[in-house]
Amino acid sequence: MVSLALAFLAGAATCAIWRAGLIDSLQAAFVVNVNPGEVPLQSPQPWLGLLLIVAISMSAGFFVSRVGARRSFPILGFGFLAMAVASLLASRQLKVDILFAPMAVGSVGAVFLVQLQRLWLIDTVLTAHVDRVATRADRIEPSLAQARLTGGLKLLQTILPLEEAVVFHPDEDGGALVPGARLRANSSEPLEAKRNSIWRRLIQLCDQAVRTNEIKLAPAGQIDSFESVALPLRHEGQTVGALLLRLRESFDESDRRLLSSVGSQVARNLQREQARKKRLDGNLPAFVSSRTSGHRLHAFDVISGVLTEHRFGAQILAEASDGYAIAYLDGTLAYVNPAMAWAARMNENEIQKLDLFGLLDCFRSGVFDEPSIAVRRVLQSGETYQRELKFADRNQTLELRIALATERHGSGLNGNGSAATPLCLAIRIRDVTRMKEFEQLKSDMISLMSHELRTPLTSINGFSELLALNDKIPEESREFLQIISNESQRMSRMIDTFLSVTQLERGDKQEVTKIALRLDEAVRETVTAMQPIAKKKRIRLLEQGNGRIPPVAADKSLITQAIAKLLDNAIKYSPERTAVTVSTVLEAEAVRVIVEDRGYGVPAESIDRIWEKFYRVARDGQEKDEESTGLGLAFVKEVVEQHGGTVAVESEVGRGSKFSFALPRL
Ligand code: ADP
Repeated sequence: MVSLALAFLAGAATCAIWRAGLIDSLQAAFVVNVNPGEVPLQSPQPWLGLLLIVAISMSAGFFVSRVGARRSFPILGFGFLAMAVASLLASRQLKVDILFAPMAVGSVGAVFLVQLQRLWLIDTVLTAHVDRVATRADRIEPSLAQARLTGGLKLLQTILPLEEAVVFHPDEDGGALVPGARLRANSSEPLEAKRNSIWRRLIQLCDQAVRTNEIKLAPAGQIDSFESVALPLRHEGQTVGALLLRLRESFDESDRRLLSSVGSQVARNLQREQARKKRLDGNLPAFVSSRTSGHRLHAFDVISGVLTEHRFGAQILAEASDGYAIAYLDGTLAYVNPAMAWAARMNENEIQKLDLFGLLDCFRSGVFDEPSIAVRRVLQSGETYQRELKFADRNQTLELRIALATERHGSGLNGNGSAATPLCLAIRIRDVTRMKEFEQLKSDMISLMSHELRTPLTSINGFSELLALNDKIPEESREFLQIISNESQRMSRMIDTFLSVTQLERGDKQEVTKIALRLDEAVRETVTAMQPIAKKKRIRLLEQGNGRIPPVAADKSLITQAIAKLLDNAIKYSPERTAVTVSTVLEAEAVRVIVEDRGYGVPAESIDRIWEKFYRVARDGQEKDEESTGLGLAFVKEVVEQHGGTVAVESEVGRGSKFSFALPRL
């Protein structure tokens, strides 16, 4: 519609010009002149003429808007040529003027306007796109941009004997260089008095560097006592400023390469800052507004800078010891790092020819025999696929991980209604051979402890007890034998606790058989069993019932051991003639067992660590004669967490502790 209106406008304007007689001479050029005395040329009626001109203009405009300029121009050109010939012939033979000139002017005007409008539309969209991409790609805040500039200078300070560094950028009119970010080694500035003349010469040096596009040096003594180095800052083939360095020692040529690399980063940052300052505030078509065009150019440079920096990500992955590959959703490999190529046993050329499945085929093994199934599962469910692959032939264990990288969109109104769009697949290969070896070693050690240590301990314990009963042995020696027996028993208890913790950690779930268990009953049984130990220390062990308690799903033996461990600790870490109370209470979703004592308590600095394996609180004089391994609470925590529960502790030194655990009720 807009095209038709514009074409109509062109036609109407031409009519006006024609009627005003402004194109008479042009009109005369396309008709054969009439000799004096002959019949004058016949023209169509004015209204018919106007109609013809407008109709032809609109058709030409419509044609261009539909077919496009490139295809319509030859056809229109040919049409004009034919009509010009027709006009000449008609005027000569029929003595009729077919109004070729006004029609041609109208059509050309219409075509021009329509084409201009098409370009304007495309240009507006392009400007908007470039602008959006540039803002999205470059999200650093203005303050951060400045910080990045100074950060770059600080980095230079670590490699060069810098006295001062200044980033110059062209002023608003794009002419003279003005200082921007600055870094000074010495905050006191001795040169301030002579500054002006020196300053001018330094700027001249920068100007020279910018003009010649080369690093310019002014040795110490030429401008002042420092050596000055001016480096042109270029981004995308354009000079965006200059970097001036003032050095205490002379510039080492070997630093030149590094300096230009840091310079390009500074240039990118500087360009970004300039682009941000020239933010677009209007929406003018670029081909009539140099400001908009300039903005678009800046935005484009920002994008190209960000693209350059994005490449660094891949470079970092090249340094990783794990193998990484990125695959697009069409199965093409976007990136494969050297570690991945090594794990796949391929060289760089071979890898380049591979696609996703080609790569995964390199890792086919017993548990991973159909890569396409794994990929399909990841794509469909979005869940990460992870497997350990054993390659007996090369004595290697690799961990393969295939994950779907996604991008979260706008958080939505309720904050979590966002949908994730799949972007690409990330494949990781980790060599876990050594780790597996360590695990094997650990499990060998555990089995060594459980069998090889326990067997001799049983003999030591058994024989020492037997000997202790022997009357022929002197009283003093029997006392020693009793100590041997007690200590060996202690050692085997320690081994037992250690084994239970490691076994639970390994997640030998088959040993955890859950049944519906009443925790208050388990508590009662344990309290009864522990009474003798409590009595020995004259501790009153009380159980507090709390009405009806619903059952939980638990392994009775493990939970009883956990309660016993808490009771044992409460007795162990309390002075004589105190009380230990055990209660079972019902909470909203859980049943909690609480063991409370009036004992020594746990110091605040240790409270977070007591659940750790082998952690023991150092309490003067107490620790030595107690049977302490630092494994009891670790065991309790492991058991409770395996049941989906939580542990808790409150304690105050000298007043007592309150240990508890809660299991979800059935
Ligand atoms: P241990 O076998 O040494 O008792 P635990 O893991 O059971 O190992 O306990 C770790 C540490 O926590 C112990 O060294 C002890 O000092 C402290 N602790 C545990 N329970 C209590 C308690 N009821 N009162 C005071 N300290 C305790």
